[in-house]
Amino acid sequence: MHEFKYKNNHLYCEGLKVEDLVRRFDTPLYIYSYHTLIGHYMKLKTAFSRIAPLVCYSVKANSNLAILKALVDKGAGLDIVSRGELARAVKVGCPPEKIVYASVGKTSQEIEEAVKSGILFFNVESLPELENINRIAGQAHKIARVALRINPDVEPRTHKFITTGKITNKFGIDFETASGILLFRQRFAHLKICGLHIHIGSQITDSAPFVAAITKVARFARQLEKDGVSLEYLNIGGGLGIVYNQETPQTAKKFAARALPLLKKTGLKIIMEPGRFIAGNAGILVTKVLYVKSTPKKKFVIVDAGMNDLIRPALYGAYHQILSIRCTLNAIRSPEKVDIVGPICESADFLAKDRRMPKVKAGEYLAVMGAGAYGSSMSSNYNSRPRAEEVMVVKDKVFAVRKRENHSDLMRNELIPSFLLGL
Ligand SMILES: *Cc1c(COP(=O)(O)O)cnc(C)c1O
Repeated sequence: MHEFKYKNNHLYCEGLKVEDLVRRFDTPLYIYSYHTLIGHYMKLKTAFSRIAPLVCYSVKANSNLAILKALVDKGAGLDIVSRGELARAVKVGCPPEKIVYASVGKTSQEIEEAVKSGILFFNVESLPELENINRIAGQAHKIARVALRINPDVEPRTHKFITTGKITNKFGIDFETASGILLFRQRFAHLKICGLHIHIGSQITDSAPFVAAITKVARFARQLEKDGVSLEYLNIGGGLGIVYNQETPQTAKKFAARALPLLKKTGLKIIMEPGRFIAGNAGILVTKVLYVKSTPKKKFVIVDAGMNDLIRPALYGAYHQILSIRCTLNAIRSPEKVDIVGPICESADFLAKDRRMPKVKAGEYLAVMGAGAYGSSMSSNYNSRPRAEEVMVVKDKVFAVRKRENHSDLMRNELIPSFLLGL
């Protein structure tokens, strides 16, 4: 569900016409719907209200400060993966006791900063990392709280680049190693191992992989309890899938119906780390058609947004629905098969391949749907393209939440050495 709908043949975001936003802010333009964002967060909170989980929004899905602040103000915690994300969490006033920190490659500097800022816990991904956190906490005269990220070895049936819970993935610790760590936890004088964490992948549309993974860690937690190791938290990660095309992902309610009984039985405090589920359908990317080019074999719709703005199609072969922002055009023009491509010098620079679309013409605007997660946060300056403007709509008001970059922003940190300047 989202608040991007046609009214009188025009695409709206909440109470505002997308065409008016585009005229005011130019393209490429990311548009976020505040109420869609908050609505998704609330859906999950409500579905799981019986166990009152801490929902830590996964910052990497969309790290815009306005998005973070909107969620934090509603009581969300944050799931971070770097110092940069910690800085954002601090900036929006997220209470440290609502921050969890995962990443296979946390640097010593990152660990030290997070220990000092008093985050809820680290999701630890290996024994050497655990030893490093123990050492750094000791030096800081602190006790660091950690959860062990377990690799439960389940098949999440999603794209291989976003599978993270199989034993061949780089993430997490296998059960046997984790068991060894927990039984000999007194070795780590400066750590409190307070929980277990799983995150098995992303865009998972079915409950079965979650149920399989939760069942495995819950059984593990029970065994640990028998062995005298008691824990406080179970962090079940993120990964809930959304609708991009024809998927029929489980709703928050259906997910809760399957997962809640298992989670309740553990007696542990539950943490969730949804990213895409909250932000994915809360954003669109609007782009202008520059040219329509026919070649002997294909027709290309060349638009002003490229893989630097939205890399998901190039990176994962991801499907995004692409709609004209005026749907009267759809009805009167016959569909044709086109590639919708960006201006970047790469053949992977496409937003859609062999897509049947009502005929579009140069100068029109297209909305790339479901671009709220892993859109702007994965964007780059490749081809020296300034990053897109971002706005947030709240009913009939619009707020700029990220200014369009300019060329001096892009060159700000570069230096020409004096010898090249003949000095
Ligand atoms: C990326 C990530 C998430 C969020 O994944 P979504 O599929 O966006 O819900 C949650 N937890 C961890 C550890 C992650 O790396």
